[in-house]
Amino acid sequence: CGLYRVDLWGPPYFSINSAGNVTVRPHGTATLPHQEIDLLKVVKKASDPKCCGGLGLQNPILVRFPDVLKNRLESLQHAFDSAIQLHGYESRYQGVYPVKSNQDRFIVEDIVEFGCPFRFGLEAGSKAELLLCMSCLCKGNRESLLVCNGYKDKEYISLALLARKLALNTVIVLEQEEELDWVIDISTKLCIRPVIGVRAKLKTMHSGHFGSTSGDKGKFGLTVCQILRVVNKLKQVGMLDCLQLLHFHIGSQIPSTAFLSGGVVEATQIYCELVRLGAQMSVFDVGGGLGIDYDGSKSSNSDTSVSYDLEEYAASVVHAVKYVCDRRNMKHPVICSESGRAIVSHHSVLVFQAISAETHEAAPALCSNPGLQLQCVGDELSEDARLDYQNISAATIRGEHETCLLYTDQFKQRCVEQFKQGTLGIEQLAAVDGMCDLIKNAIGANDQVHTYSVNLSVFSSMPDFWGIRHLYPILPIHRLDERPTVKGILSDLTCDSDGKIDKFIGGDCSLPLHEMEGHGYYLGMFLGGAYQEGLGGVHNLFGGSSVVRVLQSEGPHGFAVTHAVPGSSCADVLRLMQHEPELMFETLKHRAQEMLGEHQDDNDKNVLNSAALADSLARSFDKMPYLVTSSSS
Ligand code: PLP
Repeated sequence: CGLYRVDLWGPPYFSINSAGNVTVRPHGTATLPHQEIDLLKVVKKASDPKCCGGLGLQNPILVRFPDVLKNRLESLQHAFDSAIQLHGYESRYQGVYPVKSNQDRFIVEDIVEFGCPFRFGLEAGSKAELLLCMSCLCKGNRESLLVCNGYKDKEYISLALLARKLALNTVIVLEQEEELDWVIDISTKLCIRPVIGVRAKLKTMHSGHFGSTSGDKGKFGLTVCQILRVVNKLKQVGMLDCLQLLHFHIGSQIPSTAFLSGGVVEATQIYCELVRLGAQMSVFDVGGGLGIDYDGSKSSNSDTSVSYDLEEYAASVVHAVKYVCDRRNMKHPVICSESGRAIVSHHSVLVFQAISAETHEAAPALCSNPGLQLQCVGDELSEDARLDYQNISAATIRGEHETCLLYTDQFKQRCVEQFKQGTLGIEQLAAVDGMCDLIKNAIGANDQVHTYSVNLSVFSSMPDFWGIRHLYPILPIHRLDERPTVKGILSDLTCDSDGKIDKFIGGDCSLPLHEMEGHGYYLGMFLGGAYQEGLGGVHNLFGGSSVVRVLQSEGPHGFAVTHAVPGSSCADVLRLMQHEPELMFETLKHRAQEMLGEHQDDNDKNVLNSAALADSLARSFDKMPYLVTSSSS
């Protein structure tokens, strides 16, 4: 447990049971054993051909726990409700979920359903996201907000205005000054009174990776100068009453409440000024930024951690808004937040299999001692290389390991040069490799880091690790009652040198792992429910993983797989690159007929006829591009 820091980042959802398996408590608490779900059992069940309507899912498998989502949502609401009560705040909290964090249909539908009792709404950042928010919110609470952020054109604004016609509580947040003219024009033409918000470009910045979102050079929002022009224009056209919301977002993963309070105080002053200037302000939207402690260190100095929890975040926002409003004698606004990462990160676990393990010290040694090994290299060695070898021996006898290492590397380099020139054969070069490994082993300088190949694409499933070196907790999901005996890095299936995971939470460059026994070694990536699915690409044409939805149940396993979807097939990913699998298949089938003939003797079962070949090709299009391992169907 300690090796992987599960006790630090895992609570209240993840822990390790007495069998050494990772367990999930979807509701955040478990008083009875059946309220803990054994993750390995879920994966075994999902990959069993008898399960999930005979689908027998192939890994990697993304396991979703909607109850975790519900718990996150309720915990956030509860944190704000408590802070509001504690501070005597005279209004309410009413959050929205920014669908950009994960647009999966079932997640958004769940959030709308779970958030209905407390008017939880949605936030869109593009026209497609707006469409999905509109349709999902039709089944939600009528008072839930639909916040329209992001750069807009006339079509986006028209769509947002139509949403108001559908009685959705839509707010058009001005991201750029020119959007205002379109809002005025189109709303006048459509005779729809808009509700308008402005996004303020704050001076406050935070110190984390996403801190450059705000500040004078920030990509988004209006400066105070621009906000004043917006107010004046709205006043001129008699629409200042439409301006009702102030929004800001100082960047995701805010490291500490000190930065948060700074931003909230600055923005509350702008809010109060807007009230003073005559706007009918009612909502104060603090954006996203509520962070996740991925490594459990509770530190504000790392991009993978934050120094506060949900309660401290909420208290900090409520206190800062109240402080400024009270000093200025202003009515307390409804507080809205657009927390994405904090709502969806915990709800899913990506499980993948290790398929082989290779050690970096694997060069074959022909003999057991370096001196004999040198004889295997023969007379071909150059004088310089022989001299290096003598220096290696002398340094070893003197116990000067660093000098020995230096000469060993130099010796190897000379031999490689000789090989390139053709004066050393392949057997001799192999003997040199083996000899150098023997020497390094003898002086304890061999890095014993193994490479575990995993049935996964970093580019599809962990794009933030590849793009910004964002770290997620990764660990075996079983055998945790056994001490890991090796250190490893994980290498994915893509033909890309970036397709590896060689940095882990806590800053370690390797992960403690168990010796592999066949293909049944499963690892999990945790806290990756936000952003990874939307950002993931199809490098090497590896696509999305299989997905299962798991609910707690009273049955023997304590869970039920309620929904299972196989990952992207070869045909799916080919289509994404404009290929037409049906046409491709026809071309291949035609070629099969040409090469094998249409009228082969069907009775000869040993000969592959064109129909069988075509059949097999057709099946290949339907398969996932990931490897089929012995434990996955
Ligand atoms: N709101 C806006 C405008 C954003 O740009 C983002 C993402 O960066 C969010 C909300 C969600 O932020 P987070 O996931 O940090 O809560």
